[in-house]
Order: sequence, then C-alpha cells, then structure tokens
Amino acid sequence: MRILSGVQPSGGGGAHIGNYFGAIRQHVELQARGQGIYFIADYHSMTSVRDAAQRRELVRELALDYLASGLDPRRSILYRQSDLPETCELAWLLTTVTPMGLLQRATSFKEKSAAGLQPDHGLFAYPVLQAADILQFQPDLVPVGLDQKQHIEMARDIAQKFNQTYGSEVFRLPEAHILEDVAVVPGIDGRKMSKSYGNTLPMFGPEKQLRKAVMAIVTDSTPVAQAKETRQTLFQLWSLFATQDEREELFARARAGGLGYGEVKQDLAERLLRFFAPMRALRADLARRPDEIEDVLRQGAGRARELALATWTAAREAAGLGAR
Ligand code: ATP
Ligand code: MG
Repeated sequence: MRILSGVQPSGGGGAHIGNYFGAIRQHVELQARGQGIYFIADYHSMTSVRDAAQRRELVRELALDYLASGLDPRRSILYRQSDLPETCELAWLLTTVTPMGLLQRATSFKEKSAAGLQPDHGLFAYPVLQAADILQFQPDLVPVGLDQKQHIEMARDIAQKFNQTYGSEVFRLPEAHILEDVAVVPGIDGRKMSKSYGNTLPMFGPEKQLRKAVMAIVTDSTPVAQAKETRQTLFQLWSLFATQDEREELFARARAGGLGYGEVKQDLAERLLRFFAPMRALRADLARRPDEIEDVLRQGAGRARELALATWTAAREAAGLGAR
C-alpha cells in the first residue's frame, strides 16, 4: 500500500499539535502498513513565506519535527517538494483541465482570504499543485486532517477530468483518510489551529512560551463555582492528552461546578510537555547533526522520483507533449 501526505513549512513556530494529532501521528503509525511518502511542501509555503533564508530554515525545522515524531527514513520517504520540480510541470497539465468554478468553491482559500491573508494566484491555484503532489504517486491512501478533505475531493475531480479529457487512465482516484475524533484541533483562539493564524501550540515550542500560550486559551467567563460547558476549546485540547477515564472524571467535575479554568490550563501544560518530552529530546539530538537531515531529504527525493517517473511520463504522453 502506498501512503502519501505532506505538511507546509509555513512558520508560526513549527509543527503544532493540530498537525501532530491530525496528520503526523497517523503518518508515523501508517509506516507499519505500507510505503509512506511524506513531503515538506516548500512550494506551497511560497503563498505565505516570502523570505528565502527563512524558508530553508523552516524546511530544516519541519524535517526535524517529522523525524523526532518517529518518522523512520529507512522505511518511509521524506522529501522536500521542490526537489521534484516535475511536480510543477504536472500541475500545469492539471491546471489546464481544472474548471475555475471548482477552485472558487475551495473553503480553505475563502477562509484564508477572510482571515486577512492577501490572496495571490498561487493560493487560489494551490489545490491543483496539491493534486499533482498526490496524483503523481498513485497513492492508495492520503491521511490528512478534516480541513484537507475538500482538497482531496478536488484532486479526485481533477484526476477524473484529465483522464476523461485525454481518454486515458493516467491517474487513479485518491482517497482521504481522516481520523474523526481529532479531525480538527482548535487553536488557542477557538478557530482551527493553523500556522498561518498564529494561534498554535507548537509541538516543540520553548517551555515558557508554551505555558504562556496555554494560559491564553479562550474560555467563557463562567465563575469557578458554576458548571462548565465541556464542549469548548480548552476541554477539547486537554482531552488530546487524557485517557477516556480521566476525561470522564474531569468532565464530571466541570459539570458539578468548582473547577477553575486555570487549574485545567496548568494541567494541560504539564500533560502536553510530558507527552512530547521524549520526542523533544530526540529532536535536540538530531538537531546537532544537520548533514544527516539533508541526506535524508536528498535520498528521499531520489526514491520519490523513481516512484513518480512513470506517471509523469504517462501524463506527458497522454497530453501529446514533447517528442514521441
Ligand atoms: P497553514 O496555516 O500554513 O495552512 P496548517 O497549520 O494548516 O498551516 P498544513 O501544513 O496546511 O498546516 O497542514 C498539514 C497537515 O496537518 C494536513 O494534513 C492538515 O490536514 C493537518 N492539520 C492542519 N491543521 C490542523 C488542525 N488544526 N487539526 C487537525 N489537523 C490539522
Ligand atoms: Mg493548512
């Protein structure tokens, strides 16, 4: 089985717990079930990061986040998106069969524009590049957070359109794989946790900063003595680090009244730090060997190229590009 997914090196303090529970953790677990192909989406980050040195640094940081999370480069492929420039060519082949209306319906584009991000054509067209990322590998499974469900559906539509247009079965239609219970991890302001919204709890942020961010999680103004609504951001985030029994116990205390938000926040900070502590130590160790990180990415790109080559060639052939 082939598994494909990616994360953007888009700053905001590095991979956050939404990326981890919504995507990276599954990527690591799925390594046991097939050939994982994971990429650091530096082309995609160009719609938000405009500094060359910063992009390189963010790629390195994200590679560290992935490896520290348990991605095994002997088993899985980890590559940098821009090491396969052919993906951009494929995106052009796809963009010429993509209806404008399809892209206009993309909720992620609408949300980012509404959040004040200055939309450029890249942000608008990014589902097409993402379709190329996916389709070039003919994957069986595409594990993502719920926010990406629509984009995977768009990749299916685009693949179908290309196949129909050129009367060939160049692309197989991809399937999204979404864990429902952690599908969307909320950020500290209650919106989706996103690097580009500055509302994250980074997996490996400095301890002090993390504690501060946890204390800043939005809550309502219910007094300590009164019953609390457990369907709010703070309890959702806390639950990521608790067992079912612990959750039932805390929620019962919340409903009974007398539980303060401050106490829950402090406990959440402890749990979060404890949960990521072993990965944090591994990450610090890896960070001392930057050449190894670069080797992993280079070798990953080499292996990824071998897997994508047949599809690139078939797509060009079907479209009548280049000499016969
Ligand atoms: P950006 O704000 O730049 O879009 P992001 O924080 O949304 O960054 P991405 O790189 O776009 O992160 O997404 C990487 C993976 O993490 C995707 O599979 C996505 O579905 C998942 N993901 C991102 N945010 C969340 C979240 N809040 N909850 C669950 N999964 C998430
Ligand atoms: Mg995103």
